[in-house]
Amino acid sequence: MAPKLKILILEDNESDADLLNRELKKSGLSFTSEIVQTRIAFEQALHGFNPDLILSDYSLPSFDAVEAFRIKQNKHPHIPFIIVSGIIGEENAVELIKAGVTDYVSKNKLFTLSTKIDRALNDAEIRKEKILTDKKLKLLNQELLELNQELEARVVHRTKALAESESRFRSMMETIPQIAWTNRINGKVVFYNQRWYNYTGLDNGQTQLRGFKTVVHPEDLKTGFKQFSSILRTNDGGEFQIRVKRMDGLYMWHLIRLMPITDQHGEMQLWVGTATDIQELKLLQQHKDDFIIIASHELKTPITSLKASLQFLDKIKDNPPTPILSKLIGQANKSLGKVNSLIEDLLNSSMASQGQLHINQKHFVLSETIKECCLDIQTEGMYTIKTEGDMQVEVYADVIRIGQIVINFLNNAIKYAPKSKEIRISIEKVNDMAKVSVIDNGPGIPQEKLRYLFDRYYRAENSGSQYTGLGLGLYICAEIIKKHNGQIGVESELDKGSSFWFTLPL
Ligand code: ADP
Repeated sequence: MAPKLKILILEDNESDADLLNRELKKSGLSFTSEIVQTRIAFEQALHGFNPDLILSDYSLPSFDAVEAFRIKQNKHPHIPFIIVSGIIGEENAVELIKAGVTDYVSKNKLFTLSTKIDRALNDAEIRKEKILTDKKLKLLNQELLELNQELEARVVHRTKALAESESRFRSMMETIPQIAWTNRINGKVVFYNQRWYNYTGLDNGQTQLRGFKTVVHPEDLKTGFKQFSSILRTNDGGEFQIRVKRMDGLYMWHLIRLMPITDQHGEMQLWVGTATDIQELKLLQQHKDDFIIIASHELKTPITSLKASLQFLDKIKDNPPTPILSKLIGQANKSLGKVNSLIEDLLNSSMASQGQLHINQKHFVLSETIKECCLDIQTEGMYTIKTEGDMQVEVYADVIRIGQIVINFLNNAIKYAPKSKEIRISIEKVNDMAKVSVIDNGPGIPQEKLRYLFDRYYRAENSGSQYTGLGLGLYICAEIIKKHNGQIGVESELDKGSSFWFTLPL
């Protein structure tokens, strides 16, 4: 059963109140009512009786409907308030309704009361529901707002994090010493670092247009592309070597490396590519290979001759004719000496390159050491070696090593300037240094090659296959002089001759 409707009646006239109750009963309404006459009783009933509807007379002796409505409205705005009065005119009623009173019923037309009550209750119900819905909506809105704010904060945070990681990635790509770029999974290039533009001299437009293809050496294009495609297929990353054109048109060997970048689920995101200049490494490898060929050839020649001498000696060992015997021994000794000096050069060069070339200094007179060196040189009477200048100059140096340099200069003069029958050695004092020069009248050396002569393994081209050597002699000389804080150099003019010199502190 539906709960009874609680109606609070504010009426000072008992018969009017009865009339009302009767009218209400007549309308078939299920209700209970409480009748009050004073403000205090009205206020108490509002809380105690807790009515669903208020019917109020317009004027009471100590109180009136307008005041009652104000009190009700203050704490219970949702309770419908209907004025039931005989004296209030239509105009007044309209004003009251405008002020918020639910309705007005004339005491002369009480038959309209039930309809108005129904309407008021309905309206109240709708209002209540509306208030409830409004409340819910407000709550929902609030939740939505909070959710939205949280989402916005998350988006801002994520965007910031992304921007930060992107900028970190970019600056990493810019700081590495290699050319670097990124490829999409399908291989399309997305980004090149500044080094690419600096190295190739291409601008962004040219890069977009034909990109890598324009700068890869034509001979490496096909194999490079094949290797690139096969790396993209594996997802493991890989590397290969190609020549890449520098902005001045020169091709340099590069090591191309491709690394896959995956997300936290292992899904491929992009490729990071780098190109490292390995030109020097390639040249060094080439030098090494060339050197091994030259060194083995150089060593093989005296060893073959030594072997031949020994074989011959073996044949004649039981009855050796004396002149042949001494000739063969002489030859064998010469070959052995050659092997020995080659091995010495190799050892000295590797010691020098590791900074382990030790020197043993003492005071000695340069001209005396030079004189001894000249005696060691096998000129076979074909050359004259003239020493001139300051014969008294004394230096504090490693006498054996300095002798080694003089012998090297003299041997080179004989080897590379064979037509220069006279070789001059000059000793002089220049500032605080002693200067020794070995001068020949040979073919000379082209100017552009002079600065490389003291490099390890360097052999001037014109010496070519005509003369043997490892390209180590002058390198070792330079290292020895460096240890003495002196200087080494050469002056040369084509068809006139060369002057190889070194200085030592006095
Ligand atoms: P190697 O004699 O084993 O080649 P070196 O270091 O002694 O090595 O000499 C380097 C190069 O310098 C030689 O290959 C030669 O081309 C050049 N050279 C040295 N001395 C002379 C010289 N007196 N006249 C012309 N060329 C020389």
